[in-house]
Amino acid sequence: MKRIGLLATALLLGASPALAQGVDRLYVLDCGWAHAADQSRWSPGVNVGEPIDVSDNCYLIHHTQQGYMLWDTGITDKVAAAPDGVSMLNGAMIWHRPKTLAAQLAALGVKPDDIHLIGISHTHADHVGNVDLFPKAMVLIQKAEYDWAFAQPTPPFAAEHPVTKLEGDKDVFGDGSAVILATPGHTPGHESLLLHLPKTGWVVLSGDVAHFRSNWENRRVPGFNADKEKSLASMQRVADILAEKHAELWINHDKPQSDQQHHAPDYYE
Ligand SMILES: [Zn+2]
Repeated sequence: MKRIGLLATALLLGASPALAQGVDRLYVLDCGWAHAADQSRWSPGVNVGEPIDVSDNCYLIHHTQQGYMLWDTGITDKVAAAPDGVSMLNGAMIWHRPKTLAAQLAALGVKPDDIHLIGISHTHADHVGNVDLFPKAMVLIQKAEYDWAFAQPTPPFAAEHPVTKLEGDKDVFGDGSAVILATPGHTPGHESLLLHLPKTGWVVLSGDVAHFRSNWENRRVPGFNADKEKSLASMQRVADILAEKHAELWINHDKPQSDQQHHAPDYYE
């Protein structure tokens, strides 16, 4: 009888939440915001001349066994030193950085070396601005994105940074709780991130597969995207995954959605 009792106890322990594996926390970090004079930059022919403010989020992901991963790193922390913001793209956007990424991580007690992995949706400056703050972190980036970005005059981050060049989807932790989805089109090797959280459920972090809710719902493709057909196919791919998983789409630059979300030090679990 005693042996059976021990076995039953072991089985119960095996099912306990304390031993659960997977992603258990997701923090939304403020990685800047911008005022843009003309939102038709992202929606050709629509809302021409209408200004818009865009959010720029980073996401800190904690895995029970494998520690911390960052998804995107935002506009460079250096923007925080400019009280009136920094003009970019010939004045098309004014960028602001009320809080640095470094300070937000420090407030959570997370040191740069605690970040083991950085997933990069793509290499635009408002997503890779702080990769070099984490010189030991492995960057997960599509090979197509890497080859394209490092052929430009200004590389997105230090060439000696450790990188894993992906060719398609990647189950980051090997347990399905964080899966990089290849969603090319905005840039040649753009990617999104599918996450599973115990209480929140399934979430897709968009990258720039769409910039705002209205662009997502109307399948609008920015004029500067690398490939319009691939952009549309990637939006459909994400839509199919949202439907299959009953997942929420978190659109990085959609300020109204971002304003509704809990930001660090709060977190989703
Ligand atoms: Zn972009």
